Amino acid sequence: MFDIIEQARLGELHFKSDPDSGLKSIIAIHNTKLGPALGGCRCIEYHSDTAAIMDVVRLARGMSYKAALAKVPQGGGKAVILKPAEPFDRKALYQAFGRFVNELGGRYITAIDSGTTIHDMDQVAKVTPHVSGSHSDGLDPSPNTALGVLAGMKAAALQRYGNSKLKGLTVAIQGMGNVGFHLASLLYEEGARLLVTDLQESKVKQAQTAFHAEPMSPDQFCSAHCHILSPCGLGGVINHETINVLHCDIIAGSANNQLATPDLGQQLHQRGILYAPDYVINAGGLIQVSMGLHRATQQEISNKTWGISETLYDIFTRSSVENLPPSTIADLTAEEILYQETVGA
Ligand code: NAD
Repeated sequence: MFDIIEQARLGELHFKSDPDSGLKSIIAIHNTKLGPALGGCRCIEYHSDTAAIMDVVRLARGMSYKAALAKVPQGGGKAVILKPAEPFDRKALYQAFGRFVNELGGRYITAIDSGTTIHDMDQVAKVTPHVSGSHSDGLDPSPNTALGVLAGMKAAALQRYGNSKLKGLTVAIQGMGNVGFHLASLLYEEGARLLVTDLQESKVKQAQTAFHAEPMSPDQFCSAHCHILSPCGLGGVINHETINVLHCDIIAGSANNQLATPDLGQQLHQRGILYAPDYVINAGGLIQVSMGLHRATQQEISNKTWGISETLYDIFTRSSVENLPPSTIADLTAEEILYQETVGA
């Protein structure tokens, strides 16, 4: 286990078992140089304890990198709950999890992730203040995530076409969920032509009506002829098969872990497809939650979110100068922020 910890440069790994509620949970705090660790809690089935550890460590590391590039005063952390066998008492489970979070004294702040809901966070909020995204704080991250993706698309368009205007460009969006639908609305206002897909037909119909979007079947997404391909569903969309059918200039979407393996960043770069690194372009939600916790106004939050455009443009510029993929440049930039020694005043 110490190999995993050292390789990821992880700060702390905490385990909790609470037989009364059935809670088995792990919290990983990756790096707190910039502030308390902030990251969601996943509750899913894992086929082994090691799989759960690997997941939480990888996700916590990702949050450190995301916070560093989003320039918010947070470190990277994440929690997983090994989903108990049904039936279980959901309220008791999340209150036990909340007590676990509370024992860490604020070094880790939790939030929603796969398998957890705002109602679960309400239970957590009953026993600890170190939670964001419950009904009591109203910090829904999705609209701001969409705004950040729009800002990132503009930076990508400027880099690729010399103009940040999205009017007249064709954008293919996978996933008309919380983020995708908001993004479609923003792009419609910008005058972009929209191609949309979702596994749920009703969501596609809604987008057709609201934004004059053109529907695609889910399997047409990767080969869509478009200027910008925008994965806003699940991860792993760009893999060793789909990379061969792409007909886009830019990939810019909200989904986490869009590249199935890191080497695909280099392949996209060689093919001249501009990839906006996922954890940079989808940081609007983190910005919303972090600044909301610090009582910032919505205007201040929007201003910072538009800053994603500048961060990405800097990454694209450095990528051209150093002839390295933007995904590699993003990692290097985050590591410089997290690990460079601060020279004493
Ligand atoms: P969501 O569950 O509300 O929406 C996802 C949508 O994608 C669903 O409607 C689903 O039916 C659709 N979908 C999934 N697989 C698909 C496929 N193969 N083809 C077509 N449609 C498919 O999720 P969300 O909150 O909108 O998040 C979308 C992505 O953005 C996720 O990867 C999430 O991790 C990431 N993300 C979200 C936020 C946020 O603020 N919500 C922040 C950062 C990153």
